[in-house]
Amino acid sequence: MLNLVVCGVGGRMGGAVVRVIQETPGAKLVAAVDRPGSPRIGKDAGELAGLGQLGVPVGDRIASELKGRPVIIDFSWPEASISYLKEATKKRWPIVIGTTGFTDKQWSQIKVLARQTRALVAPNMSVGINLLLGLLGPVAQSLGQEYDVELMEVHHRFKKDAPSGTALALGRVVAKALGRDLDRVGVFGRKGMIGERGKKEIGLSSVRAGDVVGEHTVIFGGLGERLEFIHRAQSRETFARGAVRAAQWIVGQKKGLYSMQDLLKLNTLG
Ligand code: NAD
Repeated sequence: MLNLVVCGVGGRMGGAVVRVIQETPGAKLVAAVDRPGSPRIGKDAGELAGLGQLGVPVGDRIASELKGRPVIIDFSWPEASISYLKEATKKRWPIVIGTTGFTDKQWSQIKVLARQTRALVAPNMSVGINLLLGLLGPVAQSLGQEYDVELMEVHHRFKKDAPSGTALALGRVVAKALGRDLDRVGVFGRKGMIGERGKKEIGLSSVRAGDVVGEHTVIFGGLGERLEFIHRAQSRETFARGAVRAAQWIVGQKKGLYSMQDLLKLNTLG
């Protein structure tokens, strides 16, 4: 039996993960955690996810003793994810982190901490996006330097970070393939008399509207043609399924930091 602890359980993704755990044979929710002070503390995680009572009350921290070496699945907030990762290293439990919006400093912390446990961190757990991450490098290299690269992401009105972690990951793959550094050539939105587009720019635009689960478009614009890749997530369950699959996979791995690319064995494409 795969025992799972869900952190950020009161959120949109936390609820989707609980629903997917319930429909996954061999998986069991054993603990649920959310922000200290949250009105969800003490409520039943099943009820919050719309499933009815599961007998798992939401706590404000990960219980020190849980039977059966569980795996943590976390979709919460960057600072919280780092503290859950620290807990995971202390307890030697594997952890799957789907939270986005980490700073460079937090990424450095993740890389150090993950060496002490088994951690899979992915800004997007969907198979389609991870396949796209694998495909974009060779595409960008084939098209070469003459095609303008623009990325657009659309998300629901409640999303707190921008651009999305996925858009940044897509942008980094293309930048690397073209021998550029996204931190130097990334243009995050445009306004005013900015002049002609720089040849090496990689544009990233963020749209926030209604309840859009997540859309990413990558445009390669040439003179006379345009190649576009579009990924549309139609429900949060696609990310939640990816996270539960990651939890199943990571128990069989050695200590270290992994991505969905590792799980899906897509590295050879990138
Ligand atoms: P949300 O705001 O609905 O939920 C976040 C949850 O985390 C809430 O229950 C909140 O109370 C909790 N939380 C916030 N601060 C906390 C803290 N300090 N300690 C513990 N819990 C805390 O957000 P969401 O839409 O569920 O998204 C959560 C995260 O997952 C975001 O970073 C989002 O970008 C990311 N996300 C990742 C993927 C993926 O595939 N990797 C997919 C969708 C969303």
